[in-house]
This record gives sequence, C-alpha cells and structure tokens, in this order.
Amino acid sequence: MNKRIGVRILDTKKGKFQHIAIDGPAGAGKSTVARKVAEKLGICYLDTGAMYRVVAYKVLAAGISLLDEEKVTSIAKNTKIRFGYSEENSVYCDDKDVTDQIRSPEVSRAVSVVASYQGVRESMVTLQRQEATKGSLVMDGRDIGTYVLPEADVKIYLTALAEERAKRRYLEHIEAGKESNLEQVLLDIETRDRLDSEREHAPLRPAENAIILDTTGLSIEEVTRKIVKIVREA
Ligand code: C5P
Repeated sequence: MNKRIGVRILDTKKGKFQHIAIDGPAGAGKSTVARKVAEKLGICYLDTGAMYRVVAYKVLAAGISLLDEEKVTSIAKNTKIRFGYSEENSVYCDDKDVTDQIRSPEVSRAVSVVASYQGVRESMVTLQRQEATKGSLVMDGRDIGTYVLPEADVKIYLTALAEERAKRRYLEHIEAGKESNLEQVLLDIETRDRLDSEREHAPLRPAENAIILDTTGLSIEEVTRKIVKIVREA
C-alpha cells in the first residue's frame, strides 16, 4: 500500500510527523486539492476513497452481491491495494492496473454500500493508520479527522453546493471524453452523500475541531493556497 509523492519529512518543530486530514462529501475536490497540498508541502498523499473503490471494483468483477456482507468483507481482507510510484494516479488491485475502472459509474454507485460494512472499514483503516505511522502525509476521505487520525495536526472539511460539485464532476467526465449526464451525476452524488452520512460506522461528518472550507466558486489553486497557509500556520 503505497502512494509516495514527495518525501517523508519529520516536522522538527514538533519532533513528529505531520498529518493532515481532508474530509468532505463527494466531488468537493478533495483528491485534487489534497494531492496539490501534499506536493507543495513535499509530503505523501493517500487517497482513501480509492481504496474503498478498489474493493467495490473487485466485488463487482467477481459477481458477488453487494448485499453479501460476509463475502464483501472477505474480499476487503484479501486484496492487495497498491498505488503507482511514477504514474501519480495509478491504482492497482492485486497487481492489476484498475485506475480507470475504479472511477466508473458502476463502482461509484456500489462503493458506499461496500464502505458501510464494519469489517471492510476495519481492513482499510488498519492500512491507512499503518501508512500514517511511516511519516508525514495528507490523507483525504470521509472519516479521517473523526476516526482514522483523530490526532491529526490539521483537519479540513471541504464542502460545496451539491449542484456545483455535480457540475465539476460532469465537466471532468466530458473533458476525459466520457459520456455524462448532469442530472444523473447530481443524483448519484446526493445518493452517495446520504449513504455516507447515514451509515452506522464512521459516518461522513466534520470533526469537532475541523476547519470548514466551502469551496463553492473557488478554484483548485485558491483552495490549495488556503490549506497550505493553514498548515504552515498550525
Ligand atoms: O473519495 P471518493 O469519492 O473516491 O470515495 C468513494 C467512496 O468511498 C465514498 O463515497 C465513501 O463511501 C467511501 N469512503 C469512505 N471513507 C473514506 C473514503 C471513502 O467510506 N475515508
């Protein structure tokens, strides 16, 4: 399980690693911003959403029912998830490159069900915490500030109006030459947010000490700059 962008740094001021948690709903720009923040700070980045997506992909590919919690949990326990060193975005499932597959609408619709199972979360959270023990990093997801890294040095909760988040996702699809439908994207995002917020285990919500950033109308660069400033002043 590796995503090594930049180098590990020790925060000499505090004598420990620096952990930055970025949480928020679907399409708030977390992954893009988190990656850029990590690059600017010269530390690693871990996309925890991609990990749940790999599990959902494998479940679908194996033809297992999403409702079969036992089998889905077993898949989560027995999957090797790896991030590419050179290709920034590449993600591997048992050594197969699944970078594109995990972003498909099918996986996007299945992932929140898979991620609602406690056993699946335990497997993913164990890996995520292991990565955090190795060094400074930016981790983005839904429960990083509340559950995975409750002691994170900086906690950001990124949000934006659902319509804007849907529009961004839709434009991403179009730019990538994929077919897309704005209304469907909005519906999928709202459904996923509802499932993620209402689930029993580590639901989506801002940590008590999170800084909430509404990115509606802001560019990726503006949001990145704001977060880097917050981290440097922390
Ligand atoms: O971040 P991304 O949209 O790729 O995440 C996909 C899904 O994975 C989320 O909708 C959520 O169901 C799940 N997830 C989670 N906890 C995380 C990260 C993602 O439950 N830390």
